[in-house]
Amino acid sequence: MTKGANNLIVLIDAHFHPDALFSRQPDFSRSYKELGVAGLAYSHSIKNLEYCKKLMEGAGVCLFSMGIHPQLPIMDKASELEEACSKKWIHAIGECGFDFFNDQYGMARTKENENAQRLVFEYQLKLAAKYGLPIILHIRKAMDLVFEYLNSLSKLEAVIFHSWPGPINEAKAILKRSPNTLFSFGGSILNGNKKARGSAAELPVTAIVTETDAPYQPPREAPVPGARLLRTYSSQLDIRLTLDELSFLRNSEKALLEQQIEQNFIKVFGHAFL
Ligand SMILES: [Zn+2]
Repeated sequence: MTKGANNLIVLIDAHFHPDALFSRQPDFSRSYKELGVAGLAYSHSIKNLEYCKKLMEGAGVCLFSMGIHPQLPIMDKASELEEACSKKWIHAIGECGFDFFNDQYGMARTKENENAQRLVFEYQLKLAAKYGLPIILHIRKAMDLVFEYLNSLSKLEAVIFHSWPGPINEAKAILKRSPNTLFSFGGSILNGNKKARGSAAELPVTAIVTETDAPYQPPREAPVPGARLLRTYSSQLDIRLTLDELSFLRNSEKALLEQQIEQNFIKVFGHAFL
């Protein structure tokens, strides 16, 4: 694996949005390279994938995922997604899953909305199984559905739980039935989410990765809900902050954590860039 410019251990960003980050921080790919990041970038269509690949040209190690987001649960990109899988243009499916966060944007948990989200999720689950690809999960206010689909999830190559929001007992229950799961942490612990911080403190180190969800989860000055934002967007600069926080929460040495998180990511995606 290519090391960063200063030959440090590689930093992992398991989930980010290059197109949206570019609009906030036009030089982000330079700092991505300088920091020595290996990441997994989200796209939502073939055209968008091509654009994201272009943005990441020359930035070092970057893999790509494509998925139908639960906030827009429609099937119009379904055949594009299968084409990207079959032609091996992507390394994972997602983010996908369920989002019933609030009543805005039609995200309330009505029967109709739930059915629409189930349809696109089940389609993506099927593709992940068919093409042997990991899945990136986005789940808000729908943990019951994770448990409902856990059997299918446990048979996949890997599951990356993006921005894990839940308590440690749920994380452990998932891991027990689906040991192929990685729990990804970033803004959730930097912003003081107590449940996420509890999970980050206690999960086995082999089940953890870091992410930024850049630019969508700006860190706060202190890990307390309501504290002032450090920046208006998240970026790869936050991976070090996340590692600091993980090291504090777990009372473990940062260098060892970095190394283990790199290995966790390589275990799933190493074949793509080693
Ligand atoms: Zn995201």
